Amino acid sequence: MNYRHAFHAGNFADVAKHLALVAILQHLAKKPAGFVVIDTHAGSGSYDLSSAEARRTGEAVTGVMCLDGLLGGNDVLTTYLSLANDEKRYPGSPLIAAKLLRPQDRLVAIEKHPEERAALTATLRPFLRARAEEGDGYRRLLALLPPPERRGLVLIDPPYESPAEFTEAAKAFAAAYRRFATGTYMIWFPIKSAAEANGFCGEVMASGATKLLRLDVRLASAGEGKLSAAGLLIVNPPWQLQSVLADALALVAPRLGAEVHFEAVGEAAE
Ligand code: SAM
Repeated sequence: MNYRHAFHAGNFADVAKHLALVAILQHLAKKPAGFVVIDTHAGSGSYDLSSAEARRTGEAVTGVMCLDGLLGGNDVLTTYLSLANDEKRYPGSPLIAAKLLRPQDRLVAIEKHPEERAALTATLRPFLRARAEEGDGYRRLLALLPPPERRGLVLIDPPYESPAEFTEAAKAFAAAYRRFATGTYMIWFPIKSAAEANGFCGEVMASGATKLLRLDVRLASAGEGKLSAAGLLIVNPPWQLQSVLADALALVAPRLGAEVHFEAVGEAAE
């Protein structure tokens, strides 16, 4: 467990993931019924982009900081930008979710690393509907499903420190999907090779999920040894998620020097 998200917060992959997170939560909030967000690998929830960790990699400089001064765009983009500029610190997925919850919604954010979990607890303290838990996100996820609300989002965003994490994430998704097949799931993955990424998507699809949207974000050039592409697999994507995200990314991707590619599978094709 050496991974610390502080080194990567606000990079191109975070920008795409957090835009998608905002889009899904805005969709869920269209109906009055409450929803749950389960963030299985939550991190600390808030990151100082001027910290030694952030400055060492410079990933935010070529990520969210490239969006400074960006105006216009749809509701997803303006909401994301206002959250990202809300405070001096960059918001992680649990803080973004917590800020978008309504009184009838709730967030369970799970983090295994004790120090990150302590920071997460502090980050989420002002939000009565948000709870931080310390533990293994995959195991806790199964215990939390199906949620009494019967609607919600599960975000699976592991660090992929070992190649086995792809299989672990796919297996955890399959078990979760068996318990809560109507939920929306967003699974983040690094793309280091097309074969590995495609194999992973195949493993997720083998669970029987029929509606999937895959979004790949690829940098035209990345620093030596740095991640240059990442993907999101969204199971049961909200109606028109692709077009809403494509509109937001049309303004964002050129600033990041990135190309985006969507692939809709099954009934997710619009
Ligand atoms: N979702 C966060 C966001 O978007 O702001 C970033 C999460 S970061 C990529 C992955 C986190 O998972 C790290 O903070 C790491 O400590 C934590 N982690 C690693 N293994 C875990 C596990 N089995 N269960 C829960 N958290 C874990």
